Amino acid sequence: MLSIIEIYRSIQGESSFAGLPCTFVRLAGCNLRCTWCDSEYTFSGGKKMESDAIFAEVQRLSPNGLVEITGGEPMLQERALVPFMQRLLDSGYQVLIETSGERPLANVPKAVHKIADVKCPDSGEGDSFHLENLNALTKNDEVKFVISTQRDYDFARDFTRLHELESKAGGVIFSPAFRKDATGARDASHCLLSPSDLADWIVRDRLNVRLGLQIHKFIWDPATKGV
Ligand code: SF4
Repeated sequence: MLSIIEIYRSIQGESSFAGLPCTFVRLAGCNLRCTWCDSEYTFSGGKKMESDAIFAEVQRLSPNGLVEITGGEPMLQERALVPFMQRLLDSGYQVLIETSGERPLANVPKAVHKIADVKCPDSGEGDSFHLENLNALTKNDEVKFVISTQRDYDFARDFTRLHELESKAGGVIFSPAFRKDATGARDASHCLLSPSDLADWIVRDRLNVRLGLQIHKFIWDPATKGV
């Protein structure tokens, strides 16, 4: 059994898979409270679903391709989630998991593409990343930093350098945080940090990281859920 908020098909908005059609399985519950969180509706509720029923819905939406496991924090349901991800892999799906890395990731199947969202200080959840998870990262994985201030940027840059993420992971993403109450205009005015400032700093500091914009917030109204 897994506690599920929603299962839907849309366009992947982040990571190196941005722009590709993807089926999202959003799990309920999170043990963090990031200040800019846009998924607070996952904190409570959720529908208990058998693995068979979730798998059937994923297959109905798409018989193949990309599936992202997200939340909330999906690894809070590790015991049931790990075999479910393995089942997706065995059926030929390409599987991504978006996680804060606060829980151990050692048991995530190696073929799952992990996107570890390391929290910066001004998220209010700095120091939540479990450093041992760095040992579970491979070239198949990505590390993401959601950045809302210059202090966050300095943290992300220093963490990237200290832990040699540019060579250890398949990619490093620096993404400007969006205001959680953003609605209306589909443009960068909702970002808490100017993307052009972020671009300047990345180039200035000669980082080999990707500036990631959440493209779903430019395609649809930023307040839209299930996209
Ligand atoms: S880890 Fe994700 S879901 Fe949890 S509070 Fe932070 S942004 Fe929201």
